[in-house]
Amino acid sequence: MTNTLWHSRAAELKFDGRAFIDGHRVAAQSGATFDCISPIDGRRLTTVARCDQADVDAAVQVARRAFNDRRWAGLAPEERKRSLIKFADLMVKYGDELALLETLDMGKPIKYSRSVDVPAAANCIRWYGEAVDKMYDEIAPTADTSLALITREPVGVVAAIVPWNYPLLMAAWKIAPALAVGNSVILKPSEKSPLSALRLAEIALEAGIPPGVFNVVPGYGHEAGSALALHMDVDCIGFTGSTSVGKKIMQYAGQSNLKRAWTELGGKSPNIVCADCPDLDVAVRAAVGALYFNQGESCNAPSRLFVEASIKEKFLDKALSLIPDFAPGDPLDEATVMGAIVDQVQLNTVLGYIESGKAEGAQLLAGGMQVRMQTGGFYVAPTLFSNVDSSMKIAREEIFGPVLSVFGFTDLDQAIREANATPYGLQAGVWTANINKAHHVARALRVGTVHVNQYAEDDITVPFGGCKQSGNGRDKSLHAFDKYTELKTTWIKLG
Ligand code: NAD
Repeated sequence: MTNTLWHSRAAELKFDGRAFIDGHRVAAQSGATFDCISPIDGRRLTTVARCDQADVDAAVQVARRAFNDRRWAGLAPEERKRSLIKFADLMVKYGDELALLETLDMGKPIKYSRSVDVPAAANCIRWYGEAVDKMYDEIAPTADTSLALITREPVGVVAAIVPWNYPLLMAAWKIAPALAVGNSVILKPSEKSPLSALRLAEIALEAGIPPGVFNVVPGYGHEAGSALALHMDVDCIGFTGSTSVGKKIMQYAGQSNLKRAWTELGGKSPNIVCADCPDLDVAVRAAVGALYFNQGESCNAPSRLFVEASIKEKFLDKALSLIPDFAPGDPLDEATVMGAIVDQVQLNTVLGYIESGKAEGAQLLAGGMQVRMQTGGFYVAPTLFSNVDSSMKIAREEIFGPVLSVFGFTDLDQAIREANATPYGLQAGVWTANINKAHHVARALRVGTVHVNQYAEDDITVPFGGCKQSGNGRDKSLHAFDKYTELKTTWIKLG
């Protein structure tokens, strides 16, 4: 491994895996820890507090107290805005450190943690800060003798449980709108990538967010996660993760205090390229680029590529010529565009899917194996299967790795039916120069977002979420405020 500037900075970095409760770093009450392993080389970075029921109880208690004392919830929105903007500014100030934590902990290239994850997360915090003092409450149309106010109230104590694929960004999508409207928040990062979330809580405190308002409890899902989701004094849970755990979250909410439960879950997004697509080169680059980005570990990765039969061969030739550009490299090297898979478990899952694709008769055209074994860590070559059939496991299940499955089609409506034939409904793409066709496909696909003639447009102003078993919530945009507020009606009798 060559030594880069980022290796030197990584060697100097201090890690702190303790929880963050009531403005302080604390060990788990039991004293238990777990190892935090870097997927880059398999080395132990630090140990992390293994929080459980007792720590969750403590965090909920301080979050409730902080909510009740109104030091945050009772501020004018403009004042919360000031703290959130300072929070975002500090994230930018500490950007290199946050990016390095993200890359070391999760394996994504430093190039992207610096240029995408950290700026997008800081921008999210800033955007909700900026938005919160632009919202007005309502007055209902009543008779002169009464007044009915319809106000948005924070729900109270919000638990946010997030996955490992975009640790900072997924945290920001939850905590920014929840904090902006005055809630207290307890964040549970994934046990696979907890470090940046813990640092985030220190930065929030430095920005002036009062102790107890933003707490972080690292730990395992079946311990800290379920304790939060089952807690009788948590009012709302914002969950991002797998569909199987999302189902449990809904159950926990129902069997405890009927807390509001919002889920943002898995995907198996179809990308349909018609023969009349306006620019084949752009379509090919987008199809492979969007899938291999983040090592294929993106919920909205367009993992099922439907190409009209008349252009399929040409399309595949072009796609295969691009694949060497995505060869995995050292995530700390600024030239690397594909990093490491998050851990050994996920590596085995991805390799298992590749084996099942081969066994079920899909045609392996690229990749299909683990690489960089000499460096330690967990790397998979960008993989492409053609002649995939909808009945195959690789066509039906979310792989969450750099594996692209290509299908041919001759009948567009049949392609739409197949595109819709998974339990997921997160995102989709369609490529055609014909606006009528594009609109027809976009309307017919049961997904939360459709990309037409691109697969990369995204910003904080638009909602992100799915339908079917991709979840019931929407992160980002002003709509996210609906998740973390209650509507209250106040009737006032006049004179
Ligand atoms: P996961 O469901 O295994 O874990 C997500 C979080 O839930 C983690 O913090 C985990 O510790 C916790 N958890 C696990 N079991 C729990 C339980 N019983 N009770 C409470 N919490 C529990 O998912 P993952 O592997 O971390 O992330 C990958 C998944 O996330 C993929 O399916 C991906 O598509 C999805 N995802 C969705 C979106 C979206 O916006 N729709 C965004 C990113 C990732």
